Amino acid sequence: MKIAAARLRYGGLIAAAVMALTAAVPPLALRWVDQARQEREQSVARLTAVHRVHELLTEAESGQRGYIITGQEPFLLPYHAALAELPAQEQRLLQAYADASAAERAQVRELLARAARKQEMLAAALALRQQGDFAAAQAMLASGEGRRQMEAVSALVNTLDSGERGALDRLEDSLRSKIWRAMAFSLASTVLTLVLLVYLARTILRTIRDREQAAQVAQRTSRQLQAGVAALRHRNEQISLLGEMSRTLHTEMTLDEVLEVTRLYAARLLPGTAGALYLADGRDAALHCAAAWGPPPAPGAPLEPADCWGLRRGVVHRCGQSHDLRCRHIDAAAQARPAGETHICLPLTAYGERLGLLHLRASAPADAVTPADACAAADAAAAGDWRDDWCDDLRSMAEAIAEQVALTLSNVRLRHVLREQSIRDALTGLHNRRYMEDTLARELARAQRNGTPLSLIVADLDHFKQINDTHGHPAGDAVLAAAGQELQRHLRASDVACRYGGEEFVLILPDCDKPAALAKAQHLRDALRTLHVVEDGQRIPVTASFGVAACPRDADSLRTLMDAADRAVYRAKREGRDRVVAAEADAMAA
Ligand code: GH3
Ligand code: MG
Ligand code: MG
Repeated sequence: MKIAAARLRYGGLIAAAVMALTAAVPPLALRWVDQARQEREQSVARLTAVHRVHELLTEAESGQRGYIITGQEPFLLPYHAALAELPAQEQRLLQAYADASAAERAQVRELLARAARKQEMLAAALALRQQGDFAAAQAMLASGEGRRQMEAVSALVNTLDSGERGALDRLEDSLRSKIWRAMAFSLASTVLTLVLLVYLARTILRTIRDREQAAQVAQRTSRQLQAGVAALRHRNEQISLLGEMSRTLHTEMTLDEVLEVTRLYAARLLPGTAGALYLADGRDAALHCAAAWGPPPAPGAPLEPADCWGLRRGVVHRCGQSHDLRCRHIDAAAQARPAGETHICLPLTAYGERLGLLHLRASAPADAVTPADACAAADAAAAGDWRDDWCDDLRSMAEAIAEQVALTLSNVRLRHVLREQSIRDALTGLHNRRYMEDTLARELARAQRNGTPLSLIVADLDHFKQINDTHGHPAGDAVLAAAGQELQRHLRASDVACRYGGEEFVLILPDCDKPAALAKAQHLRDALRTLHVVEDGQRIPVTASFGVAACPRDADSLRTLMDAADRAVYRAKREGRDRVVAAEADAMAA
């Protein structure tokens, strides 16, 4: 651009200079012509003056000769007229040659001197004739002196004449050559001006074209910048959203809450996609859909690990092209969906443990929902690799989400295990004593607040020491575990079964009055009696003594309720075991 501007500037200057020179040619030529005309007039004036002097001398001589020969006065008229005019013509001759060369001026002076001598001789011969001495006057004529003088004058006149004519010729030649040069210069400058104008026009056109191209490039660059800024802004928003999701997932929450957070954030972080989070529920090897987002159809069928290349290989697996390995679970679910979808399977693993699978389904960049995506897709399409770029972005974001979700799921699971370990008895799987005490206090308060009954059953296995002694401690453990599971199996979901310690169980029955609790205890006693625990091919009979107390009927606090139930158990033991005894006097014998 700078070069073009310099070219235009210098080209314009040269064109202006050439045009100025061209404009100067006509006045210059006029001046030359005028100068030549003046010089020519001067030469003509010189020639005229020279020839006039010669003519006047000739006329004077002719008149003088006529008078001498004839003696008639009229012949003297031209003689006197010529002599009268001669001084003026001689003066004019001198003026005409005033600025001539020194040689020419010398010739003029010589001419005038000879003319003067000629006049003197004419006057002398004339005087002799007028005095009547015709013979002397004729002798002077016949002497030839007058003719020689005239010839000398004529010779000088010829010299001056040829000199002036030569000067006139040179003047003509000089003027002609100057005019030719002026015309040639004018022609050349016109051609040069035309060339310069063409050059300038082309330079201007090229500059305009370059400017248009530069403007287009600037526009394109601006669009790319805008797209880049939009993409960056979008990326920043995604990153901050991902950070928000991460911070949210760091909050202590239940599995359902984790799934809900994942569903909501995945839908925002992966716009234009459909996805599902599969988790193992422990019932079988299959993974089940725990959360889903995006357009239907939502996945329904369980996902067998063998059907997913991502799960089988333990790495992210993508398939979108016809040559990609295609998971069988996709084929099973994609019957009704259009071809050309991209699927990404991301195994969720944490600390080497497989937790589940994040499966994504996306159509194409045309589904991009943000301007940044659209620009990025357009630019990438121009580069010919839009599909990979788009999928790579999607995959990166999905990996980040999967990593966060896997860690959170692992934490939730870990917390669940720790909590279960802290509140459950490892042998029976029932809640432990600490949990029982917390739960009983809570349920008691709730029952008292709601005015609903709450019953407590304490069960103590009969002669358990004897079982240990007879069959061994492992067999005793097996009996304990079986009894605990049996008790749990016959309770409602809202009831809480605990191993209070040793071979003693406590069952909390919220919203259950004493008669119903006594009936439940009786049912449990019968169930334990049918328990089938075999050791060394020998069935171990299991019975238990039950004490039942209810709130508010027997007690109004945790301690008094426990004491009432304990006392009832002791009474059951005292009364022969394998029976249910109610607190106070409402005992139900076997
Ligand atoms: P009673 O009918 O009067 O209740 O007699 P009992 O033998 O059941 O009661 P006792 O209190 O005399 O004995 C309880 C036994 O339970 C003693 C203890 O070794 C055993 N025991 C406590 N905890 C466990 C356990 O976790 N596993 C096994 N195998 N035995 C246990
Ligand atoms: Mg006991
Ligand atoms: Mg016992």
